Amino acid sequence: MIIEVSILPTIIISLFFSFLIIIFAVSSIISYFEHEAKAANKLLILLIPIIIVGYFAIFKDFNFKTILAIVLILLAAIILYYLIKKPIKVVGYSHNIPQNRIDEHDVIFARMRLKPNTDDWNNYYSTHRYEEEQDNKARSMAGLLSKSSLYYNPLTYNTANTNFDIIEYLQKAIKHPVSDKKIEIDQQKLTEYIKNWTKYLGAHSVGITELRDYHLYSYRGRGEDKGKPVIKSHKYAIAFTVEMDFDNVSAAPASPIICESTQKYLDCATIALQIATFLKNAGHDSRAHIDGDYELICPLVARDAGLGEIGRMGLLMTPELGPRVRIAVVTTNAPLLPDQFVLEPTMIEFCTYCKKCADCCPGKALPSGAMEENNGVKRWKVNTEMCYQYWCVSGTDCGRCISVCPFSHPNNILHNVIRRLIRRSYIMARIAYIADDILYDRKPKPKPIAKWMKVN
Ligand code: SF4
Ligand code: SF4
Repeated sequence: MIIEVSILPTIIISLFFSFLIIIFAVSSIISYFEHEAKAANKLLILLIPIIIVGYFAIFKDFNFKTILAIVLILLAAIILYYLIKKPIKVVGYSHNIPQNRIDEHDVIFARMRLKPNTDDWNNYYSTHRYEEEQDNKARSMAGLLSKSSLYYNPLTYNTANTNFDIIEYLQKAIKHPVSDKKIEIDQQKLTEYIKNWTKYLGAHSVGITELRDYHLYSYRGRGEDKGKPVIKSHKYAIAFTVEMDFDNVSAAPASPIICESTQKYLDCATIALQIATFLKNAGHDSRAHIDGDYELICPLVARDAGLGEIGRMGLLMTPELGPRVRIAVVTTNAPLLPDQFVLEPTMIEFCTYCKKCADCCPGKALPSGAMEENNGVKRWKVNTEMCYQYWCVSGTDCGRCISVCPFSHPNNILHNVIRRLIRRSYIMARIAYIADDILYDRKPKPKPIAKWMKVN
């Protein structure tokens, strides 16, 4: 019995270090498969001190072996507790509601469509001198998907243009008529069906919120409805995300990023149109909001539908894929059950300390300071002019911020455990970015473009 008690601390220490070695070894193997050779090597190197410390802790006799065993048990218990507890969430519409609606005329994509010597141009720029100066600067640069841009590639640029063309065809389907024969479906059943079908069609996550005035633009700024006020005519909004391919995003700001974003805009458009048409065929007025034809601000709707938080880079940060998603929305009068509005403060906490996107942004468009009050909302303000000007140099939609974000890592056990801990602990939310910097560098190099996408 005496012998058993005396070897107990050694058994506990052995188990702890064996587990630690397995975690580091498995993480290294996963990193190799993610094409993160540098991170994989660093994990292997970190194994050396762990094995040495483990060897001495297990095989040498020292006075505080029992104390060490107790500390290790406590440490394991704390980690286990944070892995199984619920994420920290705040429920309710108490925060960050914009005071005024955004006019789509002010959105850079609408401004870049203005033609010189037209009434639209003169009317807008006569009261927006700063925007005129910045937009003309962008116009003087190579331009999005242009031959003289930095990352010109005839294959991938043509792919992106092709995707844009198909999306333009799809925009016509937004006006599909509503059937006058209503199919009555139970609210709970319809909600369940819509969510499952959206996922079946390829969405990563889906949520429903009540449509609110501040979700909508005040006026349309482009397309055939340009100049018209946006009227709230639907009760609910279905928001969903589609995952962007990790390898293509990792090559950002080179051209695979624009293949990927346009492809996912196209996927989003197809799914949104299917859902909207399904609801219209069941007699419920609905509208798909897809690339180039939105009446609302997708990230805001997605946030309120419980899909994530708006991070430092101004994009939706989902808990599982961070900003590595595209979003679309369907608004409808069909009877649906909205999801609870939740705030995930630990994701914002992580963004407060991380700042990696700001450090890596080639356009110097992202703030590295604290959030600021803007239109009644506390948020990080992105300099959209500087961001877009970089797009006009690179020729792509850049996406470097998305590619370096620690939340963008692949959806697998290694990264999901870390993301899980961040969502459950403020301490993890404050320090986890340091581990990311150690393994992947503060300013990771973009990954090479896939061989099949190269011209030569
Ligand atoms: S890179 Fe860091 S600071 Fe930027 S959005 Fe991602 S988590 Fe937030
Ligand atoms: S897309 Fe590029 S330029 Fe724009 S904010 Fe992100 S990193 Fe900066």
